[in-house]
Amino acid sequence: MRLRNNPNADKILNESNLVIKEASESYFVNNNPIHIEIGMGKGDFIVGMAKQNPNVNYIGIEKFSTVMAVGLAKIEEDKLDNVKLMNIDAADLEEYFKANSIDCIYLNFSDPWPKTRHHKRRLSYHTFLERYEKILVSKGSIKQKTDNQGLFEASLISYNQYGMNFDFVSVDLHNNELSKDNVMSEYERKFSELGQPIYSAHVSFKGDK
Ligand code: SAM
Repeated sequence: MRLRNNPNADKILNESNLVIKEASESYFVNNNPIHIEIGMGKGDFIVGMAKQNPNVNYIGIEKFSTVMAVGLAKIEEDKLDNVKLMNIDAADLEEYFKANSIDCIYLNFSDPWPKTRHHKRRLSYHTFLERYEKILVSKGSIKQKTDNQGLFEASLISYNQYGMNFDFVSVDLHNNELSKDNVMSEYERKFSELGQPIYSAHVSFKGDK
């Protein structure tokens, strides 16, 4: 994500009441299901999903404040009341979400970390799956999209080794009839315009925790 560092980004995020700063029992005024996107980037996906599904609450998680500030501006412009943001690292998810509180986790075009010594940073690595399993409801889902074949294959192996259910797998999402309501992220738009196929998997935990 080539974006010059915005020295005011932290201040912008701190001053917004759409940005969650502290752990809380509830982040929304209703009890609608909560879906989170980890690594939301500039927010195209989460904004599109929030408009498409007003009865779902969304929380966008992003560790890079400059990028998140761009997403925040879109949410404010659209006056969406079912989206909030968290400027945190996904490694700290359990500090903010209690057990069984999230219905779905989206991983869109996550950093591929191709070097072996960095594989543990992948958001589909088993240590992240352990965190996701705790905060997700029983049988909660992870929905992943990526252009990166290596990351996709490694993620499928990770889900399989963790004993997850495979609910949907596509190696060409945009030519799959089940993708008609698909909301594109900014990376997804960029890569599909280059003619690259989009890989996608929906997996769920077995629900016997
Ligand atoms: N999801 C967006 C999209 O599809 O256009 C952005 C994709 S970009 C390649 C990956 C984003 O994930 C970056 O903005 C990065 O800062 C964020 N990210 C990577 N690891 C993260 C982590 N551990 N916690 C929170 N955000 C993370």
